[in-house]
Amino acid sequence: MTDTIEIRALHKRYGRSIALQELDLQVRPGTVFGLIGPNGAGKTTTLRTLVDVIRPTSGTVRVLGEEPRRGGAALRRRIGYVPGELHLEGRVNGHRLLAFYAEVSGEAGGTASVLGTARDLADRLGVDLNRPVRTLSKGNKQKVGLIQAFMHRPELLILDEPTSGLDPLMQREFLTMVREARDAGQTVLLSSHVLSEIQQAADEVAVLAAGRIVAGGDVASLRLGSVRRVHARIAGADAADAGAADVRAVFARIPGIEELEADSAPDGSIRLSATVEGDIDPFVKALARQEVRELTVEEPDLEESVLRLYGDSSASDSTPSDRSTQRSRRTGE
Ligand code: ATP
Repeated sequence: MTDTIEIRALHKRYGRSIALQELDLQVRPGTVFGLIGPNGAGKTTTLRTLVDVIRPTSGTVRVLGEEPRRGGAALRRRIGYVPGELHLEGRVNGHRLLAFYAEVSGEAGGTASVLGTARDLADRLGVDLNRPVRTLSKGNKQKVGLIQAFMHRPELLILDEPTSGLDPLMQREFLTMVREARDAGQTVLLSSHVLSEIQQAADEVAVLAAGRIVAGGDVASLRLGSVRRVHARIAGADAADAGAADVRAVFARIPGIEELEADSAPDGSIRLSATVEGDIDPFVKALARQEVRELTVEEPDLEESVLRLYGDSSASDSTPSDRSTQRSRRTGE
């Protein structure tokens, strides 16, 4: 079966700066594909080439079997697109704006049914379509952007940081919409710099850093999620006896522990924080021997995870031993 998106050796320069280098990416029909990477990695540039907002310096791009620059309006009608920077400043209200978009792209079942879907989506997302769009909050404008992309049930959804500005409840609703789209046979490509969002939504992932794909595959195989930041506060006789230095010595022996800090708080408890890479079980077992007052486990920011696991922008050219040297340099191991 032909891939819904096929990118080969895509290269994009802005003047002297290189935004994308030798990028290869395939998205299979009926899947949710997550493009993830830190700020400036090239996600928006990649997505814009797919909808012909910008043109590649070199390389080939095919979307739904066509070249974006030749597909014209007929191809664009088959795509729902949410740009990374959405500007909705018009005096018209949400209904009028969506009716306009529906006329442009709503041939699937007719404009009335497209607008019916738009109203359902507005109810689910809790946005008032009677208000002039320029008076809506950032998050509510983003919802209107999502509705215009989803309402005509396009074969392909291209969503650039789609949950930006949405509160956690609405982020969850959005993820449900994505799953429903996939179940209906639509293909979804979404970008994000939030790892957990991609982990929940995507079947397949590519990690972009400095214009290159540095890792990819199914979500489970990505090691990014295996880096966690832990904070604990330990109390009780064991901790008090051991003291911060002894606690540090105990935890420093645990495999995968880095950036370990332990100090005593004014109330006599010990604050412990560390980054755990890989299996978290030995850390949990060591902690279980203490009296734990507080525990937080969080994912570090994406940029840190990408750098830690895949090295800098030259990582895709480097050998695994180069990468472990890069990592040692950063962590001071
Ligand atoms: P973010 O998560 O911050 O939105 P991104 O991964 O979407 O980042 P891009 O916006 O694609 O990254 O930018 C990739 C690189 O290209 C960056 O170094 C950026 O500064 C550069 N760039 C993007 N657009 C332009 C432009 N119009 N002119 C010059 N450089 C640009």
